[in-house]
Amino acid sequence: MDDGVIVVGAGPVGLTAAYLLGTRGIPFTLIAAEPVLASDLRASTFHPPTLDLLDTLGLAEPLVAQGLRSPTWQIRLHETGEKAEFDLTAIAADTRHPFRLQCEQSKLCALLLERLQAEGRGRVLLGIRVDAVSQDEEGVTVVARPVDAPADADPQSFTGRYLIGADGSRSVVRQDAGIAFEGKTYPETTILATTLFPFHEHLPGLSNVNYVWKEGGTFSLLRLPNLWRCSLYPDHDETVEDGLRPESIARKLQEIAPSDAGHEVLETRPYRIHMRIADDYRKGRIVLAGDAAHVNSPSGGMGMNGGVHDAFELVATLSEIWKGAPIDLLDRYTRRRKPIAEQEVLAQADRNRARMQERDGDKRREMLTALQKTAGDPVAAREHLLRSSMIAGLRRAAVID
Ligand SMILES: Cc1cc2nc3c(=O)[nH]c(=O)nc-3n(C[C@H](O)[C@H](O)[C@H](O)COP(=O)(O)OP(=O)(O)OC[C@H]3O[C@@H](n4cnc5c(N)ncnc54)[C@H](O)[C@@H]3O)c2cc1C
Repeated sequence: MDDGVIVVGAGPVGLTAAYLLGTRGIPFTLIAAEPVLASDLRASTFHPPTLDLLDTLGLAEPLVAQGLRSPTWQIRLHETGEKAEFDLTAIAADTRHPFRLQCEQSKLCALLLERLQAEGRGRVLLGIRVDAVSQDEEGVTVVARPVDAPADADPQSFTGRYLIGADGSRSVVRQDAGIAFEGKTYPETTILATTLFPFHEHLPGLSNVNYVWKEGGTFSLLRLPNLWRCSLYPDHDETVEDGLRPESIARKLQEIAPSDAGHEVLETRPYRIHMRIADDYRKGRIVLAGDAAHVNSPSGGMGMNGGVHDAFELVATLSEIWKGAPIDLLDRYTRRRKPIAEQEVLAQADRNRARMQERDGDKRREMLTALQKTAGDPVAAREHLLRSSMIAGLRRAAVID
């Protein structure tokens, strides 16, 4: 039995967990299916406390250098340009990074992998897919095979003392550990479209993060260093297939910001969103983190951030166990992280999504007025920002026994 921790997954959560294990002197083997790290556009917002945590590893500065500091975010009515804008400088006393960093998650992954390889503290095995995991009183066993191996190739076995399942929403680790993942899938399909079009030069008063109501629908505009990321939706009389047609995307972008020259679209991709959470984050020596444990609407940008927070809490707990604390301390990890995911991340993301999906004009106005009131009141704004930036959740979790 190898005396180390096996981490499955090389997304932001698995890589953070592996790097943290290395810094604490705990031997690890990271196994991930992709031969090279994924570079598709997924999470693109880093919240202040995530940057504070990454800063303890010296990773915030190089990440900030590659992203866009965004001190404000807003909810607006497209037709009139009216908005409620929240300014994160109101929580400058609560964080060393009072801004959202607009930056692709793949940049964090690349930084982490580079450090892991340069520091050589553990084993990183890419291009190996885990087929099955099991455990007994002594440890865990992972059966895997290279993704490019012939179908009849013999599988490889890896053993360790603990296993971190950071293998995403379809987690094999979770399935083999027999942990349920209940929840729901939302009815709408989101269409992600990226463009070089400079929306900030066309829509007055735009922030880098904008959630927008438009007549009969909604969209969001998130800015990254070199492009704008638009979340669009098929019209009520459109199929998803029709909504993905270039002419439909072009029409929707024209409705957002008319342009004679059009909007050069770089990429379009449909995706469905889910709200699900694992029954338990731990089964014996197996623990889940990130999307393997919880998934939520991207509205508010909390999924990846919550996963990175999981990795910090989990490795701190494993480190205590490594030094002699009882293994059941792993239950504290579930006690700390699961209620926060449920109450702060899933519930908030669900409310954010519902708010933007609201079609009734009177209700929208009511919500906008309430948000403007909150944004304009220093005490209420700070409280709102502490929650939406995920600081309140981390503070609550830290005092759970
Ligand atoms: C379009 C989109 C937009 C998003 N926007 C945001 C946002 O704005 N803000 C936010 O916070 N979150 C957002 N998210 C969510 C965010 O991307 C995820 O929460 C994040 O990637 C989770 O990280 P993870 O490391 O837990 O899992 P993943 O990133 O999914 O990584 C899983 C890893 O496990 C590996 N793996 C899976 N199965 C196996 C196996 N059997 N064997 C070996 N390896 C395996 C994969 O290869 C991968 O390396 C978005 C997601 C999508 C799809």
